[in-house]
Amino acid sequence: MRFLSTRGGSVAKNAAMAITKGLADDGGLFVPESFPCVTEELKSMLKMDYAERAAFIIGKYLEEYDQKELYFACKKAYSEFEEGDAAPVVKIDDNLFVLELFHGPTLAFKDIALTLLPYLLRKGASICGAKETILILVATSGDTGKAALEGFKDKEGVKICVFYPSEGVSDMQKLQMCTQSGDNVNVVGVSGNFDDCQTAVKKIFTSVEENEKLKAENVVLSSANSINFGRLVPQVAYYFSAYCDLVNAGEILLGDTVDFTVPTGNFGNILAGYYAKKMGLPIGKLVCASNSNNVLTEFFLSGTYDVNREFFKTMSPSMDILISSNLERLIFELTGRNSVLTAERMSDLRKIGKYSLSRSEHDAIGKVFFADYCDEEECKEQMRDTFDEYGYLCDPHTAVALKAAGVYKSVHGNNKMVVLSTASPYKFSQNVLSAISGKSVKDPFVAAETLETLSAVPIPEQISQLKSKEKKFTKVIDKADVAKEVYAFAVK
Ligand SMILES: *Cc1c(COP(=O)(O)O)cnc(C)c1O
Repeated sequence: MRFLSTRGGSVAKNAAMAITKGLADDGGLFVPESFPCVTEELKSMLKMDYAERAAFIIGKYLEEYDQKELYFACKKAYSEFEEGDAAPVVKIDDNLFVLELFHGPTLAFKDIALTLLPYLLRKGASICGAKETILILVATSGDTGKAALEGFKDKEGVKICVFYPSEGVSDMQKLQMCTQSGDNVNVVGVSGNFDDCQTAVKKIFTSVEENEKLKAENVVLSSANSINFGRLVPQVAYYFSAYCDLVNAGEILLGDTVDFTVPTGNFGNILAGYYAKKMGLPIGKLVCASNSNNVLTEFFLSGTYDVNREFFKTMSPSMDILISSNLERLIFELTGRNSVLTAERMSDLRKIGKYSLSRSEHDAIGKVFFADYCDEEECKEQMRDTFDEYGYLCDPHTAVALKAAGVYKSVHGNNKMVVLSTASPYKFSQNVLSAISGKSVKDPFVAAETLETLSAVPIPEQISQLKSKEKKFTKVIDKADVAKEVYAFAVK
């Protein structure tokens, strides 16, 4: 299958090339030429395990990959998850389910794609005949960085360099990254927010000069952010898997419509749900949940995307984003795959920080998406209520989603609702503890231990181990120096 750039100036002849390149040469994002329909085959997915379901969905797009090998790669990636289940569905109320995506090596949903991406990327490069060292550049709002580091550490032919906002991630998230092992890794703080990191990294990707300099050193760039189709496609699979699990549990009949709520930052996770719907999965509404950085809520409400606004640092830092990269892929679909119009809007976004949908486009997204947001106080309240009412301990990102799901259900409550849970509460121990008990504890490990006693949810080993690990990466740089840092690491 071919992949088109959302901006019309570049085509990849297959998924291998789209994944190896990450970003299209014209600065656009690669999208599949068409969406394979799997409605007829949904029934056959019911009896599959998670790895089989993933390989089945991913294989629809990655036709040039050996399908058996792809299945074994999925099996291996998902064996790294607790109890070998990458995406368990937990029932917390009659019509309310939580899809727990955080049981992987780094305790965030990013693991689902990033345990598999090293295979997809290295195999893709080999299919394309690429011989250069691949340098993975990552801008992270906290979780992608660690998940990518774990996925790519000590992999041959690859180096990875991660940039995070130095004061914009949780203590545990920072510790996870600063203590990273591996000979091919680099982790650097940037004084600025996630958008600064993402913009700096994107600039390097599209700079002819930087790419030529690297090429001369036999290095090519690729991305582990959700701008890479290889990050998105494994995420499409868990929507199908959750649906199958609900059928198997007798909660729905095959063909019934299910709603999903997604805590959203860069719009990658929820876009994967939109792609699942396009492939024929019976999804009713996709609820887009935001924190105080509610640029997306306003976009869905008004039809105008406007980043000229205050940026808030919240307790759900992985959603502290104003420029949601993957929205570009939705705009492409909304305009009837009109790359000229998509490119125009992205150019407006760069120049004046905003663009507007036409009336008919705005009406069309309202049929698929519902959006809501909550502030810090409501997020805390939600964590406490969820714990008190259901005995369920959730992290701040999941709480934002539960809140939005509640608002949606109170008005349109007929379908079963699946809320995507994106991180372990222990990654945000101080805030979760404070929300459910009112206790204010500074040390993240003391907070985690108190939380364990209160909730009886065991502290994951990945968290307790952090305490004794050496901090190897403590450098913080200015955003203007990101390119210099990349080059120095590339030639090291
Ligand atoms: C990355 C992340 C999100 C946001 O996902 P997007 O794909 O960027 O929309 C939400 N919650 C957590 C915990 C995350 O790590």
